[in-house]
Amino acid sequence: MLREIHRYGELTRAELTTSLGLNRSTIGDLVGDLVRRGMVDEHVPGGGDKAGRPSHVVAPRPDGPYVLAVELDVERIVSAAVGLGGRVHVRRETTIVEPAPGEVVDRIAADALALAAEMPASATLVGVGVSAPGTVHVTEGLVVHAPNIRWRDVPLGQALAERLPGLDIRIGNNANLGALAEHQRGAARQMRDVVYVTGSVGVGGGVIVDGTLLQGSNGYAGEIGHIMLDPDGPSCHCGSNGCVETIIGEHALLRYAGVTDLGPAAVAAVLADAERGSPRAAEAVVRVATSLGRTLAILINVFNPEAVVVGDTLAEILRIECATIERELAHRAKAESRAVTPLITPALGRDSALIGASELAFQHVLASAV
Ligand SMILES: [Zn+2]
Repeated sequence: MLREIHRYGELTRAELTTSLGLNRSTIGDLVGDLVRRGMVDEHVPGGGDKAGRPSHVVAPRPDGPYVLAVELDVERIVSAAVGLGGRVHVRRETTIVEPAPGEVVDRIAADALALAAEMPASATLVGVGVSAPGTVHVTEGLVVHAPNIRWRDVPLGQALAERLPGLDIRIGNNANLGALAEHQRGAARQMRDVVYVTGSVGVGGGVIVDGTLLQGSNGYAGEIGHIMLDPDGPSCHCGSNGCVETIIGEHALLRYAGVTDLGPAAVAAVLADAERGSPRAAEAVVRVATSLGRTLAILINVFNPEAVVVGDTLAEILRIECATIERELAHRAKAESRAVTPLITPALGRDSALIGASELAFQHVLASAV
C-alpha cells in the first residue's frame, strides 16, 4: 500500500481497494495502521455536493519519513529531503568543481544535518540515495570510474555509511537514475519497457525492462555511450574507439562544426547557427542526428521499448533534425518495432538524476518495510 501511495502521491480508499485487490475493511485496517505510524493522513475531499459519500483520500504526511537524495555532478552537488510521493521538501545546492571524494562526503554529511534542521521534528530520515556521474558497482557502493570528476575506485557508499550510521545508503549511475526517474515520475510513467538516452559531453542511458531498471550483474548495464559505432572512429576514454559518445557527444558536434571552444555556450551557438541555416553548423547537426538515429535503431531492435526518451543536448538534435533521425530509423530499425516506438523528451528537466536518487533510496526502504 505504501508503494502505491508513494507512486501516485495520493489515492482514495476506493482506488487502493481496486489497485491492491483487497476488500474495503482490510484497506481500512491497513490505512489505520499507516496513520498510527505517522506515515499517511486521511482526509475527506471537500467542496461540491456530489451524491453519495466521497471516498477518503490517503496521502503521505509532510512530516513523515523522508530520504536524502543527492546528485553529484561535475560542477555541483544538490541535496534534497524527499518525502513519500516524491515530494521535494527542502533542497540545497553547492557549486563545487571536480570535487575530491573527501569534500563530497563532508558536504553530504553537512547537508544531511542542515536539511534535517529544516524538516519538522517528527520527520525521520530513512535512507540515502546518491547519483554519481560515472560507473557504479551498485552492491558495493563503489564509484568505479567517473572520468569527468577524475574519480577511480572511490568507496563512496562505505565512506557515507561511516558518517551517516544506521542508514541504508545506495549509489547509482546518473543516467540509470534519470531513466528510473522518468519511468517513476516523468515522461514514461505509464510504460513498462522504456529506453532512456541522454547526452551532453558524455552519452549515457538506462533501460527499464518490464517496469524494472536493468542493472546487470554489477550495475554496469546501460552504457549506451560505449556502443561501438565506427571501428575506425576517435579514441574514447573507456579504452575503445568509435564509441557512440565520441560520435554524437557535444565534443563531436563542435568538432564537426569546426569550433575549437568547448562548453555549453559553444554548443548552444552551433545549434542556433544550424537552425538559422548556417551550412557548416547544419551539416554538423545532421552528422550527429544520423549517428543518433543509428544508435536508436540498435536500441529499438534490442529492447523493443514502448518509447525512447531522448534527453539533454540530444533532445535538441531530435528537435532540429528529426527527419534525419527518422530516416535512419526507417532504414535500420526493424519495421514492426519502429512503427510503434515514439521518440519522446524527458518531463523532469535538470532534476531527473536527483529524483532518480530519491526513488533508488525509496525502492530499498519500501522493500524492507519502513
Ligand atoms: Zn567508450
